Amino acid sequence: MATIEQSVRQTVDLFDKCRRFTAAREMMDRGLYPYFQPIEESHDTEVVIRGETKIMVGSNNYLGLTHHPYVLEKAREALARYGTGNTGSRFLNGTLDLHEQLESRLAALMGAEAALVFSTGYQTNVGIISGLVGRGSVIVQDRLNHASLLDGSQLAVGELARYAHGDMGALRRVLNRHRDANGILIASDGVFSMEGNIVDLPTLLDMKDEFGARLLVDDAHSVGVLGPNGGGTAEHFGMQDRVDLTMITFSKSFASIGGAVAGPEDVIHYLKHHSRPLIFSASMPGSAVATVLACLDVMEQEPQRRAQLWENAHYLRGGLNDLGFDTVGSETPIIPVSSGDMEKTFIFWKALFDAGIFTNPVLPPAVPENACRLRTSVMATHTREQLDRVLDAFQRVGRHLGIIGGAA
Ligand code: PMP
Repeated sequence: MATIEQSVRQTVDLFDKCRRFTAAREMMDRGLYPYFQPIEESHDTEVVIRGETKIMVGSNNYLGLTHHPYVLEKAREALARYGTGNTGSRFLNGTLDLHEQLESRLAALMGAEAALVFSTGYQTNVGIISGLVGRGSVIVQDRLNHASLLDGSQLAVGELARYAHGDMGALRRVLNRHRDANGILIASDGVFSMEGNIVDLPTLLDMKDEFGARLLVDDAHSVGVLGPNGGGTAEHFGMQDRVDLTMITFSKSFASIGGAVAGPEDVIHYLKHHSRPLIFSASMPGSAVATVLACLDVMEQEPQRRAQLWENAHYLRGGLNDLGFDTVGSETPIIPVSSGDMEKTFIFWKALFDAGIFTNPVLPPAVPENACRLRTSVMATHTREQLDRVLDAFQRVGRHLGIIGGAA
Protein backbone atom coordinates (compact mmCIF):
# COMPACT_ATOMS: atom_id res chain seq x y z
CA MET A 1 0.00 0.00 0.00
CA ALA A 2 1.28 3.50 -0.87
CA THR A 3 2.31 5.65 2.06
CA ILE A 4 0.60 9.00 2.45
CA GLU A 5 3.82 10.68 1.33
CA GLN A 6 3.96 8.57 -1.90
CA SER A 7 0.35 9.17 -2.81
CA VAL A 8 0.78 12.92 -2.34
CA ARG A 9 3.86 12.84 -4.58
CA GLN A 10 2.04 10.86 -7.32
CA THR A 11 -0.94 13.21 -7.43
CA VAL A 12 -1.12 15.33 -10.57
CA ASP A 13 -1.10 19.01 -9.73
CA LEU A 14 -4.03 20.58 -11.54
CA PHE A 15 -1.98 23.73 -12.11
CA ASP A 16 0.81 21.90 -14.04
CA LYS A 17 -0.88 22.51 -17.37
CA CYS A 18 -0.99 26.22 -16.63
CA ARG A 19 2.80 26.30 -16.19
CA ARG A 20 3.23 24.35 -19.44
CA PHE A 21 1.01 26.76 -21.38
CA THR A 22 3.60 28.97 -23.09
CA ALA A 23 2.09 29.77 -26.52
CA ALA A 24 0.56 33.10 -25.47
CA ARG A 25 3.69 34.21 -23.56
CA GLU A 26 5.83 33.48 -26.64
CA MET A 27 3.62 35.80 -28.72
CA MET A 28 3.85 38.44 -25.97
CA ASP A 29 7.66 38.21 -25.97
CA ARG A 30 7.63 38.74 -29.75
CA GLY A 31 5.31 41.75 -29.39
CA LEU A 32 2.64 40.01 -31.49
CA TYR A 33 0.03 39.25 -28.82
CA PRO A 34 -3.31 40.73 -29.97
CA TYR A 35 -5.65 39.96 -27.06
CA PHE A 36 -6.83 41.89 -23.97
CA GLN A 37 -5.74 45.26 -25.40
CA PRO A 38 -6.73 47.82 -22.74
CA ILE A 39 -8.85 50.59 -24.22
CA GLU A 40 -8.26 53.83 -22.33
CA GLU A 41 -10.89 55.90 -24.12
CA SER A 42 -13.63 55.08 -26.58
CA HIS A 43 -15.00 57.61 -29.06
CA ASP A 44 -17.39 55.45 -31.06
CA THR A 45 -15.35 54.67 -34.21
CA GLU A 46 -12.00 55.44 -32.57
CA VAL A 47 -10.35 54.13 -29.41
CA VAL A 48 -7.21 55.08 -27.52
CA ILE A 49 -4.85 52.26 -26.52
CA ARG A 50 -1.58 53.08 -24.71
CA GLY A 51 -1.97 56.71 -25.73
CA GLU A 52 -2.42 55.91 -29.45
CA THR A 53 -5.63 56.45 -31.41
CA LYS A 54 -6.87 53.51 -33.52
CA ILE A 55 -9.77 53.29 -35.95
CA MET A 56 -12.04 50.58 -34.55
CA VAL A 57 -13.02 48.06 -37.20
CA GLY A 58 -13.22 45.18 -34.73
CA SER A 59 -16.39 46.17 -32.88
CA ASN A 60 -19.96 44.90 -33.04
CA ASN A 61 -21.32 48.39 -32.43
CA TYR A 62 -23.10 48.21 -35.80
CA LEU A 63 -25.40 51.22 -35.48
CA GLY A 64 -22.82 53.32 -33.62
CA LEU A 65 -25.14 53.91 -30.66
CA THR A 66 -22.75 53.55 -27.69
CA HIS A 67 -22.19 57.31 -27.63
CA HIS A 68 -25.53 58.56 -28.96
CA PRO A 69 -26.60 61.58 -26.79
CA TYR A 70 -30.18 60.32 -26.31
CA VAL A 71 -28.97 56.82 -25.37
CA LEU A 72 -26.47 58.24 -22.86
CA GLU A 73 -29.16 60.44 -21.32
CA LYS A 74 -31.57 57.52 -20.88
CA ALA A 75 -28.83 55.37 -19.32
CA ARG A 76 -27.95 58.18 -16.88
CA GLU A 77 -31.62 58.66 -15.90
CA ALA A 78 -31.97 54.94 -15.15
CA LEU A 79 -28.73 54.95 -13.16
CA ALA A 80 -30.16 57.65 -10.90
CA ARG A 81 -33.53 55.87 -10.58
CA TYR A 82 -32.44 52.24 -10.06
CA GLY A 83 -28.82 52.50 -8.85
CA THR A 84 -25.83 50.66 -10.27
CA GLY A 85 -26.99 47.05 -9.91
CA ASN A 86 -29.99 44.87 -9.04
CA THR A 87 -28.13 42.50 -6.70
CA GLY A 88 -30.38 39.58 -7.51
CA SER A 89 -31.83 37.41 -10.27
CA ARG A 90 -34.95 38.11 -12.33
CA PHE A 91 -36.63 35.28 -10.42
CA LEU A 92 -36.30 36.96 -7.02
CA ASN A 93 -35.49 40.60 -6.32
CA GLY A 94 -33.95 41.54 -9.68
CA THR A 95 -36.91 42.21 -12.01
CA LEU A 96 -37.46 45.88 -12.88
CA ASP A 97 -40.44 47.41 -14.65
CA LEU A 98 -37.87 48.28 -17.32
CA HIS A 99 -37.15 44.57 -17.98
CA GLU A 100 -40.85 44.03 -18.64
CA GLN A 101 -41.08 47.09 -20.89
CA LEU A 102 -38.12 45.82 -22.85
CA GLU A 103 -39.67 42.36 -23.19
CA SER A 104 -42.84 43.86 -24.71
CA ARG A 105 -40.87 46.03 -27.13
CA LEU A 106 -38.70 43.10 -28.25
CA ALA A 107 -41.66 40.77 -28.73
CA ALA A 108 -43.26 43.41 -30.99
CA LEU A 109 -40.03 43.91 -32.97
CA MET A 110 -39.58 40.18 -33.49
CA GLY A 111 -43.25 39.51 -34.27
CA ALA A 112 -43.43 37.12 -31.30
CA GLU A 113 -45.96 36.64 -28.48
CA ALA A 114 -43.46 37.20 -25.70
CA ALA A 115 -39.79 37.69 -24.83
CA LEU A 116 -37.51 37.05 -21.87
CA VAL A 117 -34.46 39.14 -20.96
CA PHE A 118 -31.27 37.44 -19.66
CA SER A 119 -28.05 39.05 -18.36
CA THR A 120 -25.88 38.22 -21.40
CA GLY A 121 -26.38 36.76 -24.86
CA TYR A 122 -24.19 33.83 -23.89
CA GLN A 123 -26.45 33.02 -20.96
CA THR A 124 -29.51 33.37 -23.17
CA ASN A 125 -28.35 30.63 -25.54
CA VAL A 126 -27.22 28.37 -22.72
CA GLY A 127 -30.49 29.09 -20.92
CA ILE A 128 -32.75 28.29 -23.88
CA ILE A 129 -31.04 25.06 -24.88
CA SER A 130 -30.46 23.66 -21.41
CA GLY A 131 -34.00 24.67 -20.44
CA LEU A 132 -35.68 22.95 -23.37
CA VAL A 133 -33.54 20.01 -24.50
CA GLY A 134 -34.24 17.29 -21.97
CA ARG A 135 -33.59 13.55 -21.78
CA GLY A 136 -34.08 11.82 -25.15
CA SER A 137 -34.34 15.16 -27.02
CA VAL A 138 -31.82 16.17 -29.66
CA ILE A 139 -30.21 19.55 -30.33
CA VAL A 140 -29.03 19.85 -33.93
CA GLN A 141 -26.46 22.53 -34.73
CA ASP A 142 -24.52 24.01 -37.65
CA ARG A 143 -20.82 23.33 -37.02
CA LEU A 144 -19.98 27.03 -37.18
CA ASN A 145 -22.60 28.11 -34.66
CA HIS A 146 -21.46 30.46 -31.92
CA ALA A 147 -19.75 28.87 -28.90
CA SER A 148 -22.66 29.79 -26.61
CA LEU A 149 -25.05 27.62 -28.64
CA LEU A 150 -22.59 24.74 -28.52
CA ASP A 151 -21.94 25.28 -24.81
CA GLY A 152 -25.70 25.25 -24.19
CA SER A 153 -25.67 21.68 -25.49
CA GLN A 154 -23.09 20.72 -22.87
CA LEU A 155 -25.42 21.79 -20.08
CA ALA A 156 -28.46 20.15 -21.71
CA VAL A 157 -29.14 16.50 -20.88
CA GLY A 158 -30.21 15.72 -24.46
CA GLU A 159 -28.02 14.59 -27.34
CA LEU A 160 -25.99 16.94 -29.57
CA ALA A 161 -25.79 16.35 -33.34
CA ARG A 162 -23.92 18.68 -35.70
CA TYR A 163 -23.96 19.22 -39.47
CA ALA A 164 -21.35 20.74 -41.79
CA HIS A 165 -21.68 24.51 -42.15
CA GLY A 166 -24.68 25.41 -44.32
CA ASP A 167 -25.00 21.85 -45.65
CA MET A 168 -28.76 21.27 -45.80
CA GLY A 169 -28.24 17.71 -47.16
CA ALA A 170 -26.21 16.90 -44.04
CA LEU A 171 -28.93 18.46 -41.87
CA ARG A 172 -31.53 16.24 -43.54
CA ARG A 173 -29.43 13.13 -42.81
CA VAL A 174 -29.09 14.13 -39.14
CA LEU A 175 -32.84 14.76 -38.83
CA ASN A 176 -33.62 11.44 -40.51
CA ARG A 177 -31.35 9.62 -38.07
CA HIS A 178 -33.17 11.18 -35.10
CA ARG A 179 -36.76 10.80 -36.33
CA ASP A 180 -37.74 8.99 -33.12
CA ALA A 181 -36.25 11.51 -30.73
CA ASN A 182 -38.23 12.96 -27.85
CA GLY A 183 -38.34 16.37 -29.59
CA ILE A 184 -35.73 18.09 -31.77
CA LEU A 185 -34.41 21.66 -31.58
CA ILE A 186 -32.43 22.93 -34.57
CA ALA A 187 -30.20 25.89 -33.68
CA SER A 188 -28.42 28.15 -36.14
CA ASP A 189 -26.74 31.52 -36.24
CA GLY A 190 -28.74 33.92 -38.43
CA VAL A 191 -25.55 35.67 -39.49
CA PHE A 192 -22.43 33.57 -38.86
CA SER A 193 -20.11 35.60 -36.70
CA MET A 194 -16.77 34.56 -38.20
CA GLU A 195 -17.96 34.34 -41.83
CA GLY A 196 -20.43 37.21 -42.17
CA ASN A 197 -22.81 35.10 -44.28
CA ILE A 198 -26.57 34.71 -43.83
CA VAL A 199 -28.20 31.35 -43.06
CA ASP A 200 -30.44 29.76 -45.70
CA LEU A 201 -33.51 30.31 -43.55
CA PRO A 202 -36.19 29.25 -46.09
CA THR A 203 -34.64 25.77 -46.45
CA LEU A 204 -34.07 25.48 -42.70
CA LEU A 205 -37.75 26.29 -42.09
CA ASP A 206 -38.99 23.77 -44.66
CA MET A 207 -36.78 21.13 -43.10
CA LYS A 208 -37.91 21.79 -39.53
CA ASP A 209 -41.56 21.66 -40.66
CA GLU A 210 -41.01 18.39 -42.54
CA PHE A 211 -39.42 16.73 -39.49
CA GLY A 212 -41.67 18.31 -36.86
CA ALA A 213 -38.66 19.97 -35.21
CA ARG A 214 -38.42 23.43 -33.58
CA LEU A 215 -36.02 26.14 -34.73
CA LEU A 216 -33.92 28.59 -32.72
CA VAL A 217 -32.22 31.38 -34.69
CA ASP A 218 -29.36 33.28 -33.04
CA ASP A 219 -29.85 36.85 -34.27
CA ALA A 220 -26.92 38.38 -32.36
CA HIS A 221 -25.48 39.88 -35.55
CA SER A 222 -28.79 40.28 -37.40
CA VAL A 223 -31.07 42.30 -35.16
CA GLY A 224 -30.70 46.00 -35.94
CA VAL A 225 -28.82 45.02 -39.10
CA LEU A 226 -31.11 42.85 -41.28
CA GLY A 227 -34.75 43.42 -42.21
CA PRO A 228 -36.71 46.59 -43.04
CA ASN A 229 -37.14 47.42 -39.32
CA GLY A 230 -33.94 45.80 -38.10
CA GLY A 231 -36.03 42.82 -36.96
CA GLY A 232 -33.29 40.36 -37.97
CA THR A 233 -32.94 37.28 -40.15
CA ALA A 234 -36.61 36.24 -40.23
CA GLU A 235 -37.73 39.77 -41.09
CA HIS A 236 -35.08 39.89 -43.84
CA PHE A 237 -36.68 36.80 -45.43
CA GLY A 238 -40.26 37.91 -44.57
CA MET A 239 -40.73 34.77 -42.47
CA GLN A 240 -41.15 36.01 -38.90
CA ASP A 241 -44.27 33.93 -38.31
CA ARG A 242 -42.44 30.66 -39.08
CA VAL A 243 -39.43 30.89 -36.73
CA ASP A 244 -40.12 29.35 -33.31
CA LEU A 245 -37.51 31.09 -31.16
CA THR A 246 -35.16 33.99 -31.80
CA MET A 247 -32.21 34.85 -29.62
CA ILE A 248 -30.93 38.44 -29.47
CA THR A 249 -27.93 40.03 -27.80
CA PHE A 250 -27.67 43.61 -26.58
CA SER A 251 -23.88 43.63 -26.88
CA LYS A 252 -23.88 44.61 -30.55
CA SER A 253 -26.47 46.85 -32.28
CA PHE A 254 -28.00 47.66 -28.88
CA ALA A 255 -24.83 49.21 -27.45
CA SER A 256 -25.17 47.50 -24.07
CA ILE A 257 -24.89 44.05 -22.53
CA GLY A 258 -27.55 41.39 -22.03
CA GLY A 259 -29.68 39.14 -24.20
CA ALA A 260 -33.21 37.93 -24.83
CA VAL A 261 -35.27 35.16 -26.38
CA ALA A 262 -38.51 35.86 -28.26
CA GLY A 263 -41.13 33.18 -28.93
CA PRO A 264 -44.53 31.72 -27.93
CA GLU A 265 -45.87 32.86 -24.55
CA ASP A 266 -46.07 29.33 -23.10
CA VAL A 267 -42.45 28.58 -24.00
CA ILE A 268 -41.27 31.87 -22.48
CA HIS A 269 -43.31 31.10 -19.35
CA TYR A 270 -41.71 27.63 -19.15
CA LEU A 271 -38.19 29.05 -19.55
CA LYS A 272 -38.88 31.59 -16.79
CA HIS A 273 -39.29 28.66 -14.44
CA HIS A 274 -36.76 26.17 -15.85
CA SER A 275 -33.80 28.13 -17.19
CA ARG A 276 -30.94 27.97 -14.70
CA PRO A 277 -28.82 30.78 -16.23
CA LEU A 278 -31.86 33.05 -15.75
CA ILE A 279 -32.80 31.91 -12.28
CA PHE A 280 -29.32 31.67 -10.75
CA SER A 281 -27.64 34.83 -12.06
CA ALA A 282 -28.19 38.51 -11.30
CA SER A 283 -30.24 40.52 -13.78
CA MET A 284 -29.23 43.29 -16.20
CA PRO A 285 -28.82 46.62 -14.37
CA GLY A 286 -31.42 49.32 -15.09
CA SER A 287 -28.93 51.54 -16.95
CA ALA A 288 -28.15 48.68 -19.35
CA VAL A 289 -31.86 47.97 -19.93
CA ALA A 290 -32.61 51.67 -20.45
CA THR A 291 -29.79 51.77 -23.01
CA VAL A 292 -31.46 49.03 -25.05
CA LEU A 293 -34.88 50.72 -24.84
CA ALA A 294 -33.30 53.98 -26.01
CA CYS A 295 -31.56 52.16 -28.89
CA LEU A 296 -34.95 50.77 -29.96
CA ASP A 297 -36.28 54.35 -30.06
CA VAL A 298 -33.32 55.52 -32.13
CA MET A 299 -33.69 52.54 -34.49
CA GLU A 300 -37.27 53.62 -35.17
CA GLN A 301 -36.51 57.33 -35.44
CA GLU A 302 -33.27 57.13 -37.43
CA PRO A 303 -33.67 54.33 -40.01
CA GLN A 304 -30.97 56.04 -42.08
CA ARG A 305 -28.42 54.57 -39.66
CA ARG A 306 -29.10 51.06 -40.96
CA ALA A 307 -28.92 52.32 -44.53
CA GLN A 308 -25.57 53.98 -43.74
CA LEU A 309 -24.30 50.78 -42.11
CA TRP A 310 -25.00 48.83 -45.31
CA GLU A 311 -23.48 51.54 -47.48
CA ASN A 312 -20.32 51.44 -45.35
CA ALA A 313 -20.25 47.63 -45.50
CA HIS A 314 -20.48 47.65 -49.31
CA TYR A 315 -17.78 50.30 -49.50
CA LEU A 316 -15.27 48.48 -47.26
CA ARG A 317 -15.93 45.01 -48.70
CA GLY A 318 -15.83 46.33 -52.27
CA GLY A 319 -12.58 48.17 -51.53
CA LEU A 320 -10.95 45.11 -49.96
CA ASN A 321 -12.07 42.88 -52.84
CA ASP A 322 -10.77 45.40 -55.40
CA LEU A 323 -7.39 45.34 -53.66
CA GLY A 324 -7.33 41.56 -54.13
CA PHE A 325 -8.21 40.41 -50.60
CA ASP A 326 -10.42 37.37 -50.10
CA THR A 327 -13.40 38.39 -47.94
CA VAL A 328 -14.57 34.79 -47.55
CA GLY A 329 -18.10 35.16 -48.94
CA SER A 330 -19.15 37.91 -46.50
CA GLU A 331 -22.64 39.31 -47.17
CA THR A 332 -23.07 41.55 -44.11
CA PRO A 333 -21.20 44.25 -42.12
CA ILE A 334 -18.98 41.44 -40.79
CA ILE A 335 -16.11 41.34 -43.28
CA PRO A 336 -13.40 38.73 -42.63
CA VAL A 337 -10.13 39.01 -44.56
CA SER A 338 -8.29 35.79 -45.35
CA SER A 339 -4.78 35.89 -43.84
CA GLY A 340 -3.20 32.42 -44.23
CA ASP A 341 -1.52 30.64 -41.33
CA MET A 342 -1.35 31.72 -37.69
CA GLU A 343 2.12 33.26 -37.87
CA LYS A 344 1.21 35.45 -40.82
CA THR A 345 -2.09 36.42 -39.20
CA PHE A 346 -0.37 37.70 -36.03
CA ILE A 347 2.15 39.68 -38.11
CA PHE A 348 -0.67 41.07 -40.28
CA TRP A 349 -2.67 42.05 -37.20
CA LYS A 350 0.33 43.79 -35.56
CA ALA A 351 1.29 45.75 -38.68
CA LEU A 352 -2.28 47.04 -39.01
CA PHE A 353 -2.43 47.80 -35.29
CA ASP A 354 0.78 49.83 -35.56
CA ALA A 355 -0.76 51.62 -38.54
CA GLY A 356 -3.67 52.65 -36.29
CA ILE A 357 -6.25 50.02 -37.30
CA PHE A 358 -7.90 47.72 -34.73
CA THR A 359 -8.99 44.33 -36.17
CA ASN A 360 -9.60 40.91 -34.57
CA PRO A 361 -7.61 37.79 -35.50
CA VAL A 362 -9.65 34.60 -35.99
CA LEU A 363 -7.61 31.43 -35.45
CA PRO A 364 -8.20 27.66 -35.09
CA PRO A 365 -10.35 26.07 -33.74
CA ALA A 366 -12.77 28.78 -34.97
CA VAL A 367 -11.37 28.22 -38.50
CA PRO A 368 -9.23 25.48 -40.13
CA GLU A 369 -5.40 25.55 -39.64
CA ASN A 370 -4.42 27.56 -42.76
CA ALA A 371 -7.64 29.53 -43.16
CA CYS A 372 -7.05 32.20 -40.49
CA ARG A 373 -8.61 35.62 -40.88
CA LEU A 374 -8.61 39.15 -39.65
CA ARG A 375 -12.20 39.93 -38.86
CA THR A 376 -13.37 43.46 -39.53
CA SER A 377 -16.84 44.87 -39.00
CA VAL A 378 -18.14 48.26 -39.99
CA MET A 379 -20.32 50.71 -38.13
CA ALA A 380 -22.92 53.16 -39.39
CA THR A 381 -20.81 55.97 -37.95
CA HIS A 382 -17.53 55.20 -39.75
CA THR A 383 -16.73 58.11 -42.03
CA ARG A 384 -15.62 57.63 -45.61
CA GLU A 385 -12.26 59.13 -44.63
CA GLN A 386 -11.83 56.51 -41.87
CA LEU A 387 -12.73 53.66 -44.22
CA ASP A 388 -10.24 54.99 -46.77
CA ARG A 389 -7.54 55.00 -44.10
CA VAL A 390 -8.42 51.39 -43.28
CA LEU A 391 -8.20 50.41 -46.97
CA ASP A 392 -4.92 52.26 -47.38
CA ALA A 393 -3.37 50.45 -44.40
CA PHE A 394 -4.66 47.07 -45.63
CA GLN A 395 -3.15 47.74 -49.05
CA ARG A 396 0.29 48.69 -47.72
CA VAL A 397 0.50 45.84 -45.21
CA GLY A 398 -1.14 43.27 -47.50
CA ARG A 399 1.38 43.97 -50.25
CA HIS A 400 4.32 43.96 -47.88
CA LEU A 401 3.31 40.54 -46.53
CA GLY A 402 2.50 39.15 -49.98
CA ILE A 403 -1.17 38.57 -49.08
CA ILE A 404 -2.14 40.59 -52.14
CA GLY A 405 -0.10 41.36 -55.27
CA GLY A 406 1.45 44.72 -56.23
CA ALA A 407 4.48 46.68 -55.10
CA ALA A 408 4.75 47.25 -51.34
N1 PMP B 1 -24.24 34.54 -30.34
C1 PMP B 1 -23.42 35.05 -31.26
C2 PMP B 1 -23.59 34.66 -32.71
C3 PMP B 1 -22.39 35.93 -30.87
O1 PMP B 1 -21.55 36.42 -31.78
C4 PMP B 1 -22.27 36.27 -29.49
C5 PMP B 1 -21.21 37.24 -29.00
N2 PMP B 1 -20.04 37.25 -29.67
C6 PMP B 1 -23.14 35.70 -28.58
C7 PMP B 1 -24.13 34.85 -29.03
C8 PMP B 1 -23.03 36.00 -27.12
O2 PMP B 1 -23.49 37.26 -26.83
P1 PMP B 1 -23.02 38.14 -25.59
O3 PMP B 1 -21.75 38.82 -25.98
O4 PMP B 1 -24.13 39.09 -25.40
O5 PMP B 1 -22.84 37.23 -24.42
